[in-house]
Amino acid sequence: MEKSLKVAVIGAGVAGLAAARELRREGQKVVVVYEKSDQLGGTWVYDPRVESDPLGLDPNREIVHGSLYSSLCTNLPRQLMSFSDYPFEIRKNGELRTFPDHEEVLEYLNKFARDFGLVELIRFNTEVVRVQRVNDQWIVGSRSTTSDLSLEEAFDAVVVCNGHHTRPRIADIPGIKKWPGKQIHSHNYRVPETFLDQVVVVIGDGPSAHDISKDIAMAAKEVHLSSRSPEIKVSKLDYYDNIWKHPKIDCVYENGEVAFQDGVSVQADIILHCTGYNYDFPFLETNGIVSVDDNRVGPLYNHVFPPKLAPSLSFIGISFTVDLFHMIEFQAKWMARVLTGKVLLPLENEMLIDIEQQYKRLEEAGKLKHYTHNLLYDEFEYLDWLAAQVGEPGADEGLKQITRTLLKFLADNGWFRYSRALGTLFSPHALSPPSQQSLVPDLLKSATLSFPPYI
Ligand code: FAD
Repeated sequence: MEKSLKVAVIGAGVAGLAAARELRREGQKVVVVYEKSDQLGGTWVYDPRVESDPLGLDPNREIVHGSLYSSLCTNLPRQLMSFSDYPFEIRKNGELRTFPDHEEVLEYLNKFARDFGLVELIRFNTEVVRVQRVNDQWIVGSRSTTSDLSLEEAFDAVVVCNGHHTRPRIADIPGIKKWPGKQIHSHNYRVPETFLDQVVVVIGDGPSAHDISKDIAMAAKEVHLSSRSPEIKVSKLDYYDNIWKHPKIDCVYENGEVAFQDGVSVQADIILHCTGYNYDFPFLETNGIVSVDDNRVGPLYNHVFPPKLAPSLSFIGISFTVDLFHMIEFQAKWMARVLTGKVLLPLENEMLIDIEQQYKRLEEAGKLKHYTHNLLYDEFEYLDWLAAQVGEPGADEGLKQITRTLLKFLADNGWFRYSRALGTLFSPHALSPPSQQSLVPDLLKSATLSFPPYI
């Protein structure tokens, strides 16, 4: 029988909970989940607080982990927001919307943790401040966030699940030092009221830029959405009378003007950066064995194991896909079975060669280093690979179809989120907004697996 290991998991979000469950399933008796906040759920714990520096750059600010805004519903149907063997339940009030709100996701995670006996593994209010390899053990230094208590403990393995939506990335804008307006990063966006009657320039290409533009359009006078895409010509966003699309910002000026690359300019009050996040492992001391370079965490074999420190150090949830919950679930299974020795990793040198080849493929495909862990559109291949490592069938065909339908829906309609505040996909400024019912493809609403149809 394999020796039971003492394993530290850092973080009790989706990744940490999945990791802890798989470690217990594989018979690890001592699993300690460190969680710096007073509750589990990570990103899905809505925190109304914002940081003292709205751009999130001041190293002395008190860090707020969460980045959710108040009205957020998921942008994935619930079939893709749950682990494969643990679907969302029908609520007592019969609620079954296609896109759950953030409270419902948090409720789901709490129930998952209770049902699998994970809550008792979590040390709440305990922040990990140091992780270091000493001889053949890992020393985990932690501090209580509610008292002066600090502790050092030795573990056989450490699983890093600290999330990557907390440390803002900021757009570099010529002239910004003298621009007189206010700047904020989406990490510190919570409610539209703070933008009442303001002219706002939102920077970004991704879902947050689109979602938040629509959310603030409820209160703002004008929203100007600036994206990197060179094809964008200034135009109103479909269904909105106060959101305009623009190309990249060219320069900003002391008089408050924001000039875009097509020569159009606006007088703006606020610039809102929806420009993503940086990976950050402030506690990890590996003497450069694992580093972050332009948002590439590396070297990591298949986004989980650093070859030189494998398998005793691993990372869950670094890569991102549409179907994040299932990716995390399978990464956790792989990690847990590698730790027991049921599944073997290639030799260190072979893993390093594999990583080099992956980097080369990215380069040949013209993908920037920054996107190393972005698996959107490649995700079935990766999910199936992970599943094969643990001897399970690949992603369920029904889920694959839902994912494909969702991607096509997004491509056809642009990024979108259901607006809980309004009960429609759009803001009151929208011109005859179509209802969610008429827009969302039937498959995303339909029964799959054991689910009844969603509305
Ligand atoms: P997190 O949820 O961030 O959890 C990390 C945990 O680690 C936290 O609890 C944190 O307190 C803890 N922690 C961090 N550092 C330490 C430390 N040093 N010591 C102890 N504890 C620590 N995904 C979807 O699938 N669908 C969506 O619709 C969706 N919408 C999103 C919208 C926004 C605005 C954002 C920011 C993300 C969204 N995501 C969505 C992605 C979301 O992040 C993932 O669903 C998931 O929450 C990631 O889980 P995680 O465990 O990797 O990280």
